[in-house]
Amino acid sequence: MPQPLITEAEADQISAAPKSIDGDLKWEYDPSTGPFAKAVIPVRHDFAVELRVHATVNLKEPSRITFALVASRNFRIRGLCINRSHGNKHTNNEKWRPGTHMHRWTNKCRDRFAHTPHQHISMDVERAFIVFCKECDISFTGKVMALPVLQLGLDDVR
Ligand SMILES: [Zn+2]
Repeated sequence: MPQPLITEAEADQISAAPKSIDGDLKWEYDPSTGPFAKAVIPVRHDFAVELRVHATVNLKEPSRITFALVASRNFRIRGLCINRSHGNKHTNNEKWRPGTHMHRWTNKCRDRFAHTPHQHISMDVERAFIVFCKECDISFTGKVMALPVLQLGLDDVR
């Protein structure tokens, strides 16, 4: 059975409530699936939904970073795209190519609504993660582990 959609008010409430991440942000990297380091880390909070932060870095271009706060495995209620290209398909025609923008869950656009952040966001993964946690009211006292080393595939060395 499909899960009921989360509402904008619920997403805002979850985002604004104090939350925490225990432990360190550790990367996983499977070169057979592409040049991406990924991390998923649970978020502690008082709501009856599962909350996780997903992080992805393109190891070929390590300034291409995305973070997402995901509820119930399906709903990206907050996101941060660094040095990524796309436009808003709903709401307005703002475009980032490439650029840094945040995503916010809205009733009209779901997770597609993006806006330019009010503050400058570093392209350094550790500093950017700390800003993302602050934006989402997540206290994080762990470490962001070093990114894995990119392994070149046969296509790259030929
Ligand atoms: Zn984006």
